[in-house]
Amino acid sequence: MPADNPKIALLGFSIECNKFAPPATKAHFAARTYLEGDAIISEARGPTPTMLPETPGFVAAMDAAGPWQPIGIALAMAEPNGPVEHAFFEELLATMTTGLKAALPLDGVYFCAHGAAITTAEDDPEGVMFQRIREIVGPDVPVVATFDLHANVSDRMVDLIDAFIGYRTNPHLDMRERGAEAAAALRELLAGAKTARVRLRLPIVPPTVTMLTAAGPYAEMIELGTRRQQELQPAILNVSVMGGFAYADTAKNGLSVIVTARGDKAPADALAREIAQYGWQQRGRFHARLTPLEAAVEKALAAGRDPSLPAACFADVADNPGGGARGNTMYLLRAFAEAGVRGALFGIIYDPDLAAEAHGHGLHYHFTADFNRNETTNFSEPWSAPARVAALRDGNCVGRRGIYAGQRLAVGPCAALAIGGIIVVVVSRRLQCADPIFFEMMGLDIRKARSVAVKSRGHFRGGFDEFFKPEQIVEVDLPGLTSPILSRFTWTRLPRPVIPLDDNVEFRLT
Ligand SMILES: [Zn+2]
Repeated sequence: MPADNPKIALLGFSIECNKFAPPATKAHFAARTYLEGDAIISEARGPTPTMLPETPGFVAAMDAAGPWQPIGIALAMAEPNGPVEHAFFEELLATMTTGLKAALPLDGVYFCAHGAAITTAEDDPEGVMFQRIREIVGPDVPVVATFDLHANVSDRMVDLIDAFIGYRTNPHLDMRERGAEAAAALRELLAGAKTARVRLRLPIVPPTVTMLTAAGPYAEMIELGTRRQQELQPAILNVSVMGGFAYADTAKNGLSVIVTARGDKAPADALAREIAQYGWQQRGRFHARLTPLEAAVEKALAAGRDPSLPAACFADVADNPGGGARGNTMYLLRAFAEAGVRGALFGIIYDPDLAAEAHGHGLHYHFTADFNRNETTNFSEPWSAPARVAALRDGNCVGRRGIYAGQRLAVGPCAALAIGGIIVVVVSRRLQCADPIFFEMMGLDIRKARSVAVKSRGHFRGGFDEFFKPEQIVEVDLPGLTSPILSRFTWTRLPRPVIPLDDNVEFRLT
């Protein structure tokens, strides 16, 4: 019998880890979102939560559907980074264990995952967490989890939960909706529904830029899943097509199709095969095509000279903080500055030392801006240029558009620096430039810019779409920790052979 007032535990562990980037520490989680107990619920119900919107969406939908008792356990969320320090992972796991045991008996569990975490000692931390949760709550208590579509999916991430719900949009604009979907699934499970899940993994590790959901092979796989799910109602509860995150470099990497069926497994199995087969037929399209730096500089120069040309948006996809990169490489800024590009906005560059120095100097001060003076990460090389302090702010803002819309954000003390014909926004906390607010809060007018360069792989598309049409966007080929040219990395754990790295890759549905 379902409880009239079900007691539901809320947990979360959300980070995307790039094995080639420096480790993520507890401080990185504390700087973004680290909550325990009731604070999770009150933050989720607040007007501008610091957490990504799945948990607020889940809580709101649960609230709307009837009585329930939310029990906040622990939620740790950080910007994409390197592998999580294993000691912190163990600490978080212990906190979750203690909290869950104290909350027993429970009627259900909601877990907000990203799905592409690794630690310095574990390649499947989400699987470890789900195993622990299952051990504590037992086999019959429903566990529902949401995932970023960049999740790398292990068997236990599918087998140990009752409903697997992944994002369907990239840029990720459906996070809140997926949280609400998780609540609906949990209500069904609480009422006695049972599920069966199937996962199929393809030998394809899609480069980031081939995983947009507006168009392309990945979009078509998701569209096929959504359509078939509707046609097959009520057999299918959810279809999730997970592109994965190459830079985690794990054995569980690979484009995966996860189908959750109500009751009978056969329809899930048939549908997963159909989508996987379609994806395999599209394998030749999972290759990155980028614009060389020289061509990007020419385009920016031309846009600056000729106001009749459309403005252009340049994405430094290889230095995307949203994929664990540092957000401070100088290749594009230096090339623009040395070529004399005019009318350009550039952001956001992570350099706390430079931001602090600009604050020390004050507005309109002229000085030599020394970028990356203390940075030692590969690709983050020093560069110096004459600069003027054009604006100073404290970096507190609320996201306006795209993935950060409505979230409280803090980029720390920040400065706009005029370097020749370019205005560069320098920040003290590493975040991807996915929201126009990062320019707007400095008093900069994006509509007047002839070129806008962003440290972001794709989420900027959801924030800057009101300024730039897809054909105005230029993905520039540069060195970096998140280069979509996967052959430039030394992989140790990826399953091989795999597309796009190898020839003669085979895939057979048994
Ligand atoms: Zn993602």
